Amino acid sequence: MINVTKTFLPPLDEYIKYLEKIWDTSWVTNQGPLAEELENRLKEFLDVRNLLLVTNGTIALQLAIRALDLKGEIITTPYSYVATTTSILWENCNPIFCDIEKNSFCIDPANIEKAITENTSAILATHVYGFPCDIEKIQAIADKHNLKVIYDGAHAFGVKYKDQSLLNFGDISTVSFHATKLFHTIEGGAVIVKDEKVAEKIFLYRAFGHLDDEYFSIGINGRTSEFHAAMGLCNLSRVYDFIEKRKKINLMYKEYLDGTPLSFPVISENIFYNYSYFPVFFLTPESMLSAKQLLSENGINTRRYFYPSLNKLPYLNYSECPVSEFTAERVLCLPLYNDLGIDHIKKIALIINKSFNLK
Ligand SMILES: *Cc1c(COP(=O)(O)O)cnc(C)c1O
Repeated sequence: MINVTKTFLPPLDEYIKYLEKIWDTSWVTNQGPLAEELENRLKEFLDVRNLLLVTNGTIALQLAIRALDLKGEIITTPYSYVATTTSILWENCNPIFCDIEKNSFCIDPANIEKAITENTSAILATHVYGFPCDIEKIQAIADKHNLKVIYDGAHAFGVKYKDQSLLNFGDISTVSFHATKLFHTIEGGAVIVKDEKVAEKIFLYRAFGHLDDEYFSIGINGRTSEFHAAMGLCNLSRVYDFIEKRKKINLMYKEYLDGTPLSFPVISENIFYNYSYFPVFFLTPESMLSAKQLLSENGINTRRYFYPSLNKLPYLNYSECPVSEFTAERVLCLPLYNDLGIDHIKKIALIINKSFNLK
């Protein structure tokens, strides 16, 4: 069976070296030396000033909303993973969906201004598949209306925009280090924060809001364990190698799927891209579903990512986002992981080609 992702695991003896360090001290969690080391190495790798490791990418979003003291309405994208929306709801705010731009899959700034009301406190946008949002326009709107900006950068690790990490933009960027992401710590995430004061708040929130016997605020348990940090330390030095391998797979897929009615995202020249996913877009939902079905019958798992368009979540009042809905009904993410072989890529492409000839 071929899965849509396969978690990279480092050579076992490399991980065991870190385990030996943990066994030496019995320090297993509570921001231990390995978490500290990973945090420092991530700051260096991403060239960002304030970065805090947390338990996962969802907690990262919730902490971001909480630390910016957001209230009322948050303008957000319907085309993302469900965690982007539920973190807004979890923090007792209201998600207001603005439709996406059809080529970048990210929130369309042209729709944002119309959605702003006196209750709007922020914009929470996702860099979908690692493609940057229209950062300049979003920032200009935010400045004009005095709104905060959070980027869900769960897909954006390693992406560079204007020669710096994409995660450096907005008031806060969040990232996920879940096992299915390009760079992972099994479970994990981080918050990248512009303002030192906000970073200090998150530092406290992450560990119950207290330092020893002094209690400052409410908080949660958002800390990373040493075991998770060790996995990150093994994987971090390999990120550019992962990206290189995935780039080759991306090119092979496009070669073998050439001539089909599928369309692919355009990777703009002015970014350094991370090849985190391989989404393809079908002309109709029917052709997508028949390809998915035929692939599945041949032991190949794909994922409707993202589906459904989040404005259609059953626990929300529906609001129209035609571009996002259109996209969500036609997208399929094909298997993509570092060591996906050429034979598998050929087989997947062949089956997709066959699915077009069935009707
Ligand atoms: C994976 C993901 C998340 C959630 O991250 P977890 O680490 O799984 O909690 C949030 N947003 C997007 C866009 C994601 O892809």
